[in-house]
Amino acid sequence: MTAIQGIGEETASRLAELNIHTVGDLLFYFPFRHEDYRSRHPEEAGHGEKITLEGTVQSEPQVAYYSGRKSRLSFKMLVEGKLVSVVFFNQPYLKNRIRPAQRIAVSGKWNRYRMQIVASQYRLEGTGQENLLQPVYSVKGDLTVKDLRRLIFHALKQYGHLVEEILPEPLLKKYRLLPRKNALYALHFPKDGELLRQAKRRFIYEEFLLFQLKIQLLRRTAREVPEAKAIEFDPEKLKLFIESLPFPLTAAQKRALGEILRDIRSPYRMNRLLQGDVGSGKTAVAAVCLYAAVLGGYQGALMVPTEILAEQHAEVLERYFRPFGVKTALLTSSVKGKARERILTDLAEGNIDVVVGTHALIQDEVNFFRLGLVITDEQHRFGVEQRKILREKGENPHALFMTATPIPRTLAITAFGDMDVSVLDELPAGRKPVKTYWVKPQMLPRVLAFMEKELEQGRQAYVICPLIEESDKLDVQNAIDVHASLSRHFHPRYRVGLMHGRLSPDEKEKVMRAFARNEIQVLVSTTVVEVGVNVPNATFMLIYDAERFGLAQLHQLRGRVGRGGDQAYCVLLADPKSETGKERMKIMTETTDGFLLSEKDLELRGPGDFFGTKQSGLPEFKLADMVRDYRALEAARKDAKEMVESERFWTGEEYGPLRKLLEREEALKGEKLD
Ligand code: ADP
Ligand code: MG
Repeated sequence: MTAIQGIGEETASRLAELNIHTVGDLLFYFPFRHEDYRSRHPEEAGHGEKITLEGTVQSEPQVAYYSGRKSRLSFKMLVEGKLVSVVFFNQPYLKNRIRPAQRIAVSGKWNRYRMQIVASQYRLEGTGQENLLQPVYSVKGDLTVKDLRRLIFHALKQYGHLVEEILPEPLLKKYRLLPRKNALYALHFPKDGELLRQAKRRFIYEEFLLFQLKIQLLRRTAREVPEAKAIEFDPEKLKLFIESLPFPLTAAQKRALGEILRDIRSPYRMNRLLQGDVGSGKTAVAAVCLYAAVLGGYQGALMVPTEILAEQHAEVLERYFRPFGVKTALLTSSVKGKARERILTDLAEGNIDVVVGTHALIQDEVNFFRLGLVITDEQHRFGVEQRKILREKGENPHALFMTATPIPRTLAITAFGDMDVSVLDELPAGRKPVKTYWVKPQMLPRVLAFMEKELEQGRQAYVICPLIEESDKLDVQNAIDVHASLSRHFHPRYRVGLMHGRLSPDEKEKVMRAFARNEIQVLVSTTVVEVGVNVPNATFMLIYDAERFGLAQLHQLRGRVGRGGDQAYCVLLADPKSETGKERMKIMTETTDGFLLSEKDLELRGPGDFFGTKQSGLPEFKLADMVRDYRALEAARKDAKEMVESERFWTGEEYGPLRKLLEREEALKGEKLD
């Protein structure tokens, strides 16, 4: 350590407190963010943001003294044709340095309403433009961020050239990643924003790849005994079925199917998550897989969280399967008496091929003849325990979990690596995106008039009630109030229903069913509106106090409309006060891509506020974030898998550095265990 210029014994011991013991540790001590001194256009900046503006000094700096020694220096500056006032506190001597007509850049806090910047730093033209992005490191004790900048700068200068590439050339090419050495320089001291972005991208991928390689290596050992039945099916027959569907599959559906079918053909039990945005067509994928199981001589089960959803799925599958002689049955707690006994017998004797049901499927009395594949829809709504029971019903059936939640809830599963993931990242062609508007609460009367126009055309509408933080009781009261006032408003033209979390499951089902049958035209609800329910005739959604909802949640809610072929609308009633609140509303009106929204959600809330990676027990990385960088995680996962399965990985020279690193980390682990 002390070999580095500027590091003596004392500094070395301070660095040790940050867990920096070697030159390598120091080089790879990454900044957690960069101070941004790049200049921006004043109109791009939000109120209260920290910015840098560049322009020409327009007036002689004036100094005013107050409360004794305090002072305020101000002058006008022209930035991109806008006159901005600049204020420096307690730096009166700047009066002699800053002259009219000079080019200058000032950094500080922006007051958008006064067109004023309260500056703390400045830079005059010709005094060097270097380091507009300065690394910020986490520090403790006596070490400052400035110290670390200096130490790392020296370490890079002396030892940076020794940093070796560990990723094989083909991977670098495939993702156009920066070489390790260049990325390291750029991460600490980026020349520009783009380079910094590329440096981060490189290391995020590297972190994920190493992580996934470790998981895959662990798995290899765990996988030696085959534990499920390989399902053999006739691909030609399956093709006929696919061709019989009322639509051609999307490329994403085909890709997911390829992954799933490959799994169920193998003697290793499939444990796979299918993520697909609302409306991406998960049901059709499920149908094809179930049919493949049936062709292979097995039974399939589809488990869903609510009765209505079970009925809807059973209906769709029945329609798809009928021409192929597949026997489908519905099993929920409403199926009673003789009918129920019949189904139970048929399942046990193998007369039923595919069963769709709620948690009724996992009761003790339900026995299967030869269960080969279990699929759950809206996966996050089943507990792990319930899924386990269903899986134990057969002799280790293959398992597929479907969910529309783009990220967080299911992320843990991915993270622990016991599940594979397929993604439907594409919606069927010709789908009309829901038109989304953001309006102020004063506009409510006009919104209701708009809604009534839809109702006049025989359409239905959802009204989502304000969310009151952490108070289910107040939420319910709110819904009751909104219901009362809308009932009055639409009386007697339309019927308004009410749904909230205090209703019993039976009551909820009843309301949902009435809405699905168009006995109710307007459904006022808290966020409990059942996930995955399909009421294609509902084309309008009004969300009260939309700023109180997270983007992911707004997206899920909005997914309830736009499920038919007709244009659907979503109106966000909101008056957000903060910039990020406004930004959230704006993004909702601009995109319907769930993945994009969840990334934005994270960006706007900031990684710290999210769902607390620390508490969730997810692995932590230096730069990578499993939620934000989900796609990179997926790519790394695929690559790691292919790698360990390839011969080259074990022998190839290009994998040497990677193997060595993994071995070393294994060895380290062993040491810690002792
Ligand atoms: P989700 O993924 O939300 O469960 P669904 O399976 O309910 O989506 O499908 C939504 C709608 O899209 C359904 O009406 C379904 O028939 C239709 N659909 C599914 N796949 C396709 C496709 N490849 N092309 C056109 N429409 C499709
Ligand atoms: Mg669905």
